Amino acid sequence: MIKAENLSFSYTGSPPYVLDGINLEIRDGEYVSVVGENGSGKSTLMRLILKFIKPTRGTIELKAKRIGYVPQKNDFSNSNFPITVYEALNSYRKISRIKDKSVIAKNLEQVGMSKFAGALMGTLSGGQSQKILIARALMGNPDLLILDEPSTGVDVGSQKEIYSFLKKINDESSITIISVEHNLDAAISNSTLIYHLTGGSGHLCSPQQYADEFLKNKGR
Ligand code: ADP
Repeated sequence: MIKAENLSFSYTGSPPYVLDGINLEIRDGEYVSVVGENGSGKSTLMRLILKFIKPTRGTIELKAKRIGYVPQKNDFSNSNFPITVYEALNSYRKISRIKDKSVIAKNLEQVGMSKFAGALMGTLSGGQSQKILIARALMGNPDLLILDEPSTGVDVGSQKEIYSFLKKINDESSITIISVEHNLDAAISNSTLIYHLTGGSGHLCSPQQYADEFLKNKGR
C-alpha cells in the first residue's frame, strides 16, 4: 500500500531534517498506529503520504485508489455555523462527486449516528463530531483511511466505540488504516503494527514488542 525509501523531509529544504532517511513498507490491510513524541514528525509523515508536501530526498509510493482522511477535530464541528449533520455530509458528497445520496444514511448508521442527521453540527459532543468526520471520510469508499489523533477531545465511552469500529472495518472490509496516535493503549490493543518515530527515523514493530519496550523504558 505504501513504500517509502530513504525518505527525508525538511521544511527549509536543508538540514536539520524532520524525517531523515526513512524506509517503511505498509502492506494492504494493515492497521498501523504511528506514535512518537510531539514534534517527532508524525503529521509531517502523514502529509507526505497524502502528497500535501513532497519529499526533500527519497521516494514515497502510494498504491491506494481512494483515500479517506480524518483530520484532527477542527473548529468547524464546534462552531455555531448553522449546518446540520446531513447538510455537512451532503455538501462533502457533492464536492467529492459521489452520486449516490444513500451513502449518507448508510455511513451515519455505520458509526451509530443515524438519529443525529438533523442535529446542528455545533451541538455535537467531541465524540459525536469525530464519528461524523469518520462517516465523512468513509463516504468515498476508501481503501486507505488516515486518521490524525482520533481520540483527541473525545470522551472515553466514544473512544471505545470509535476504536472498535475502526478495528471492525479493518477486519471486515480489509481497509488499510494509518492512525497517528497519542493514545498508546488504543495503539497497542487495536493496531496490527506500530510505527515508532523518534529522532528523525522510525521503526515498525508489533504491538506486543512496542508494549514490552515501552514498559522496559518506563522502568528505567
Ligand atoms: P508531530 O506530528 O509528531 O507532533 P510534526 O510533524 O507536526 O510532529 O512536526 C515535526 C517538526 O517539524 C517539529 O519540529 C515542528 O516544529 C516542525 N514543523 C511542523 N510543521 C511545520 C511547518 N509548516 N513549517 C516549519 N516547521 C514545521
